[in-house]
Amino acid sequence: MGYELRESDVYGLAQQVGATVRRRGEELFFQLCPYCHGGESRDKDTFSVNLKSGAFSCFRSGCGKKGHFVELCRDFGYPLDFGEKQGKQYRKFPQKPVEVREPAVEYLKSRGIGEEVARKYRVTCRKDDPSILAFPFYDEHGVMQFVKYRNTCHQPGQGNKEWCEKDGKPILFGMDRCTGSGRLILTEGQIDSLSLAQAGLENAVSVPNGKNGFTWIGPCWGFLEAYSEVVVFGDNEGGEITLAPEMQKKSPIRVKVVRPEDYLGEKDANDILRKYGPQALVTAVENAREVPLPKVVELADVKAVDLNSLPRIRTSLPEVDKLIGGIFPGQVALLTGKRGEGKSTFMSQLVAESLEQGWPVFVYSGELTDYHFKRWLDFQVAGPDWVRTSFDAYGEPRYSLDAATVEKINSWYRGRAYLYDNNALEGEEMEGLLETVEKAVKRYGIKAVFLDNLMTAMSDDPKSDLYRQQSRFVHRLKLLAVRQDVAVVLVAHQRKGSAQQKGAPVDDNDTIMGSGDITNRVDTVLLYARPEEGADCDGLLRVTKNRLFGRLTRKGEEVKLFYSASTKRISSKGSSLRHYGWEANPEEEPLLPDLPF
Ligand SMILES: [Zn+2]
Repeated sequence: MGYELRESDVYGLAQQVGATVRRRGEELFFQLCPYCHGGESRDKDTFSVNLKSGAFSCFRSGCGKKGHFVELCRDFGYPLDFGEKQGKQYRKFPQKPVEVREPAVEYLKSRGIGEEVARKYRVTCRKDDPSILAFPFYDEHGVMQFVKYRNTCHQPGQGNKEWCEKDGKPILFGMDRCTGSGRLILTEGQIDSLSLAQAGLENAVSVPNGKNGFTWIGPCWGFLEAYSEVVVFGDNEGGEITLAPEMQKKSPIRVKVVRPEDYLGEKDANDILRKYGPQALVTAVENAREVPLPKVVELADVKAVDLNSLPRIRTSLPEVDKLIGGIFPGQVALLTGKRGEGKSTFMSQLVAESLEQGWPVFVYSGELTDYHFKRWLDFQVAGPDWVRTSFDAYGEPRYSLDAATVEKINSWYRGRAYLYDNNALEGEEMEGLLETVEKAVKRYGIKAVFLDNLMTAMSDDPKSDLYRQQSRFVHRLKLLAVRQDVAVVLVAHQRKGSAQQKGAPVDDNDTIMGSGDITNRVDTVLLYARPEEGADCDGLLRVTKNRLFGRLTRKGEEVKLFYSASTKRISSKGSSLRHYGWEANPEEEPLLPDLPF
C-alpha cells in the first residue's frame, strides 16, 4: 500500500495543470508555480518537483509552498495509484508533452480541420513514418490512457488502416477538452469528432475501437453521467446510424441520434464538413432527436443465426451441455430442486465457468453472506492442486487456501465479477434488484447474471399475492435478459410439500414446480435432486424444459453428479479436471517504453 513516486505522474500532473516544464537533472521545473502562478510579476521557474524524492517547493518569497508530490496531487485533484483495489490493470503511458508535427497538421487541413484544432487535441504523426497519424486519448484528468494510429496512405487490402497501442485503458478521444456538463456529442471516428470541434461544437468525443467496441462504457461511466444528454453522430450506413442502437441500450444518460436526413447523403461528420461546411454540422446536432428502438423489424432483415454457433456458457458437464447446449444470452435458466441439495454449489461453479470463458458476472446470493459465497467460489476456482487439507482434534478434515492463492484468484476476479451488496430481499425490493442488475449490466459489461435465491419458495397458489409477485418478477427478468442480451441463471427452491414430494408424477413441469407461470416464462429448467440412499453418485440433474433444443431427460437418464468436499466442485462422468486462468503466470509489469511519436 502507499504511493511510490513515478516520473510519469509528475509529468502527468504538470500536463493537467497546464504547466510548461523543463528538466534539470533530477528537478522538473514548472514555468509557473501552480499555487501562486508567479505572482503579479509572473516570476518564472520558481517551482520545481524533485523526480527522485518527490519534494516540491516554490521559492517565490510571497508563496513559499512546499511539500511532497502526493500533497501536490491532492491539491490539484490528480489521481494517484495508492495500490488500492482497482479495476483491470491497464498499461501506463509516458506522460510527456506531445509534439504536434507538421505532416499531421497538413493532413488534417486536407480534411477541413484547422491547425488550432489539431494542436488543441494534440494530434501528431509518428517520427518513423509521418503518414501514420497518432491520436493520444487523455482522460478528464488530462492523463494519456490510450493511443490510436491511423495510416493515412492506407490502400484497401493492405494491412490495417487503424490500430492502437496495446493494453491501453479504453476511453473516449477528447475527454480532456470537454466542459463536464451539458450536451456530449459522440462520433465513431477521431476525425469526425475533430470535425465537430472545427465547427465550434463543444464536448465532441469519439470512441476508441469503432462501432462495435463498447469496452469504454465502464471506464467512462462517471464521465458520461456528468452530462445531461449524448447526441450520437455515428456513421450513416444506409440510414442506420452506427453506435446508436448500442448507446440506446447502454447509456446512463438520455440519448439523441442525428437524423439520417441531416447527413445530406454523406457518410460521416467529416464528409459533411468538407462538402457542406460547419453550419451543416451544427444543424445536424441541433436537429438530433430521441429515437425509440424499433418495435417492428422486417423479417428479411433479421440476421440468420446458426443456433449451434451462438455464444454460450458451457457448464463444464458435457452430459448437460449435450442436452441444453449451454447457458445462452437472452435466456433465463431455472435451477431448481429441494432445499439443500447442491443447487447453490452448482450455480457458483457456473459463475467460475462464466469467468473462465470470458463472461463478466453479476451475482445475487440471498442465502449466503458475501464472504461465505466468495469462500465457496474461491475453493471451486482453486481446485485440487491448491486446496490444503488438515485434520482437527476430532479427525475431521479442514480445508484451506493460502493467502497467495486467494490473492491470485482475486486478481482474476477483479473487474469482471460483481456481487449485489445486500442479502435477504423481499417484495418490493425484488424490483429494486432488477434495476440494479440492469445498471450493472450496462456499466460493467456483465454478460451473465446469477440470482440465488429470490424466493424463499416458489408459490403454487395462482390466487396468492406471492405467486403473482414471483410470476411478474420472472417475467421482468426474462425481458431484461432479452433486452440486454445477458444469460440469467435463477435458483429457486421447490416448495415444501409440493406435488413431487407428495409422490406425484414428476414428468410435468407444472407439477414439479407448482408454479406454471414461472416455468412458462423461463427457457431452461434444470432439476437438481438427491439420489436414493446408497446410490453411486451425490446428485442427479434432469433437464425438464429446453426451449432452444427441446431435448429433455427421461426418467432413469438423469445426469449423475459427484461432489468433492475439499474443492466444492461438482463433476460428472464426462467432465475433466478444470484449471482456471488464475493459475497462469501473469505477465511482468510493463515498463514505460517511449511512444513512436
Ligand atoms: Zn508559488
